[in-house]
Amino acid sequence: MTQRSVAVATEYTDNLLVATLLGAGRRTPHKVAVRHVGGDMTYAHLDELSARMAHALVDVHSVTRGDRVVVQSRKVPEVLALNVACARVGAIFTPLNVAYTEREVSDLLDDASPTLLVRDQAMHHATARVSLDELVRESSHFTSRFDDVASDASTPAALLFTSGTTGRPKGAILSQGNLVFGCTTLNQVWEMSSEDVLVHVLPLFHVHGLFVAAYCVLSSGASMRLLEGFDVGEVLGILPESTIMMGVPTHYTRLLDDERLSATTTTSMRLFISGSAPMLRTTHEDFYSRTGHRLLERYGMTETGMITSNPLRGERRIGTVGPALPGVEVRVSGGSPGVVEVRGPNVFAEYWRRPELRQSEFTPDGFFITGDLGILDDDGYLEIVGRTKDLIITGGLNVYPKELELILDTFPGVLESAVVGAPDADFGEAVSAFVVARPGERVEVEDLRLRARAEMASFKVPKHFLVVPSLPRNAMGKVQKTELRRALVERLTRSSP
Ligand code: AMP
Repeated sequence: MTQRSVAVATEYTDNLLVATLLGAGRRTPHKVAVRHVGGDMTYAHLDELSARMAHALVDVHSVTRGDRVVVQSRKVPEVLALNVACARVGAIFTPLNVAYTEREVSDLLDDASPTLLVRDQAMHHATARVSLDELVRESSHFTSRFDDVASDASTPAALLFTSGTTGRPKGAILSQGNLVFGCTTLNQVWEMSSEDVLVHVLPLFHVHGLFVAAYCVLSSGASMRLLEGFDVGEVLGILPESTIMMGVPTHYTRLLDDERLSATTTTSMRLFISGSAPMLRTTHEDFYSRTGHRLLERYGMTETGMITSNPLRGERRIGTVGPALPGVEVRVSGGSPGVVEVRGPNVFAEYWRRPELRQSEFTPDGFFITGDLGILDDDGYLEIVGRTKDLIITGGLNVYPKELELILDTFPGVLESAVVGAPDADFGEAVSAFVVARPGERVEVEDLRLRARAEMASFKVPKHFLVVPSLPRNAMGKVQKTELRRALVERLTRSSP
């Protein structure tokens, strides 16, 4: 796939990604890049540590260009230094979710066949392993000058395994060009500057936390407050000294649950960004009325980085994820709603060791088929209405879960809902709704059914309603519909004679 060339400062290195991540910081070496409980990391420190680590990777662990370095680590600033070190060596940074069990890590190691695994805990696998602390200690024996491997936009930079909700996880290979295009474009549309201080509450093993949040900060010479988890009190404590936050919808609902969230605690903030999962209209509205800030929603995925964003200055439309980013093409195919397809310098070239998937996952004219269903309005704003695999076909008719969820969420006492299909002998699939009540309120199945009948075409009215205390979500705040479908099937099997 052709990559658009990206203009970045190359005076220090002819490694595209290193120039992008360290170029701005090299003009302010003593500035804190990462603030963390374990100690601050200045830009000079990041530059030097990444150079020393690059030596250790090459001289101690025999890592060379194109090799994979798998990292499963707690969230500390040294992970970012290791990421830059990999770019310097031309190695492929492969971060793994910290929640993966030894068994899952082992399977992914078989697939990635890395030269080195950076992980604190030992495990039974043939791959050479070092802990992050050991690697930092080894690095201290080396000089802080390293001749970065020359690279261009097509140089592979990262291998990220998608959540793998269907079958075995697929590894997306992201090139330096993908990553550089991503952060430089976002810096432009969100007007990032070296004055920004970002509240970093996302995992560093995911595209959102690493390639969006951390890369936007580093490439603009800004600062981040790296928090290991999401503690509402801690976040509220640092908001008054920060300017920007990137989070998932759950982060914002948790902030709203705390009465200390107000216009006063957020006066220094200029932007709250949300993505990775759909945000409820009520969250948008409540956040605005409590703080005076309009949340900015954007959309992207592992394989493509960011695709669309509501504008910083123009109209932010609730219920949409905004128009395509500059340089990115988005279209919806096969009707409306239709499948969202995307093409541009942000889109990965192929899946790791599965080149055959290029055939099925891309259209003949080079658009990546996202698997999301969407509607594009006349102004180019995209609304995501669900995933193709979540589409329910009942009695031959299409039902889009998001459409129903939006209606159910307006019913009295309802906080949120999730609609899935259950196997059904008559209809193929039966529309089924999981509903969560607002705190302190009750919702009755019979009321839900009556209202649904009044407000939806009969084929859309859920056959099964289940009132549950909460919806299962993953680390990125996405509702786990596979889990809901499984729970539903179990429930139906138990109750059938
Ligand atoms: P991941 O590859 O883990 O980043 O997941 C990407 C998927 O998250 C997308 O294909 C969408 O289904 C979903 N997603 C990301 N951002 C949004 C958003 N703002 N609204 C709705 N869904 C989103």
